[in-house]
Amino acid sequence: MRRISIFGATGSIGQSTIDLIKRDPSRYQTVALTGGANIKLLAQDAIDLGAEIAVTAYDEKHDELRQALAGTGIEVAAGQAALIEAAARPADWIMSAIVGAAGLAPGFEALKQGTTLALANKESLVTAGPLLLAQAAKYGARILPVDSEHSAVFQALVGEDIAEVERVIITASGGPFRTWPMDRLKSVTLAEACKHPSWDMGQRITIDSASMFNKAMELIETKEFFGVESAKIETIIHPGSYIHALVGFRDGALMAHLGAPDMRHAIGYALHWPKRRDLPVDRLDLAKLGQLQFEAPDDRRFPALRLAREVMETGGLAGAAFNAAKEAALDMFIAGQIGFTQMAEVVEQVLAQMSADLRLDNVQLSLDAVYATDASARKHAFKIGKSI
Ligand code: NAD
Ligand code: MG
Repeated sequence: MRRISIFGATGSIGQSTIDLIKRDPSRYQTVALTGGANIKLLAQDAIDLGAEIAVTAYDEKHDELRQALAGTGIEVAAGQAALIEAAARPADWIMSAIVGAAGLAPGFEALKQGTTLALANKESLVTAGPLLLAQAAKYGARILPVDSEHSAVFQALVGEDIAEVERVIITASGGPFRTWPMDRLKSVTLAEACKHPSWDMGQRITIDSASMFNKAMELIETKEFFGVESAKIETIIHPGSYIHALVGFRDGALMAHLGAPDMRHAIGYALHWPKRRDLPVDRLDLAKLGQLQFEAPDDRRFPALRLAREVMETGGLAGAAFNAAKEAALDMFIAGQIGFTQMAEVVEQVLAQMSADLRLDNVQLSLDAVYATDASARKHAFKIGKSI
């Protein structure tokens, strides 16, 4: 029996993970499940999976969770310290699927076990990539990518030498606004930004996909995880999302990973790695598909892609500032305080204002510096958001 924990169990990735676990319960023993405000779902899954402990991130939800699990024998806890404690509980496979920079600390703690961290939380790599990889190396832990593009690259690299990679091509669906007239983007509503044409995901990443901030994060994630220099990382718009990424080698060969847009593939690959097992995902009918479509990405329509290049060039703490500014801008967009296209304006201005403090020649990369940069970038972002 493998001992597994799921951080962000009540979210989109968490639920897809639980779906796979529930299909094969005799193979797994659930240690910790964590969630946020959806106590009903967290408690039900903790009962269904016979978890050792259920943790809500929010102190004010502690009582509700306690009541929901009264008499079950399942331990209950709440708050940040409890999340860290849960990450320290021995487990063989730990899913990091909290959304946002909040996923950083539990992931760092989980790596100390020297087992496997399945990483959906892309913010960990964007904000603190070198530190995360160093932590894994220090404790002999393995990180398996769960973002679909990075799982695809990882699979295309099996048996290959990364030194022979000429380019990595990350595909992007282009989101719902790919073909909208540019001047309409300003007035995109929250409801419009919450509809993704090919993937069913959590609200925040869905909006990030519409603005292409998600793709921007993924470019940075690629550089950090695979150690590929930014000049070798490309994006291609591929509506339909059948190809998840391609890896090009020095002899001109391109290895593509195709599959239905269903996160249970990438999650299942990380769960069963290094083996493959049956997964309940649709099989592609290529004849029915007929053709695959590609377009060059447009940096004017999606300034997030240009900003990602800037962040990759700067390195250091730029990723931490970028992510925090993006999270704050997203908060403001969701709250109706700024418009859709103003999210990129906010992030660009934060990066400009903080640029001197982000370069590695000026700063030492540490987790404390990442948190300080995160806090400062959010402050800058909210201030800028009020004035534009
Ligand atoms: P989601 O919003 O559906 O779920 C997020 C989870 O995190 C929930 O369990 C929520 O309770 C928890 N959470 C939220 N704020 C928290 C906080 N402050 N502290 C502790 N827990 C908190 O998100 P999702 O779509 O499942 O995405 C999770 C992560 O996986 C993100 O980093 C996202 O970028 C990444 N990812 C998601 C997908 C996808 O298809 N959904 C694909 C690739 C990568
Ligand atoms: Mg992705």
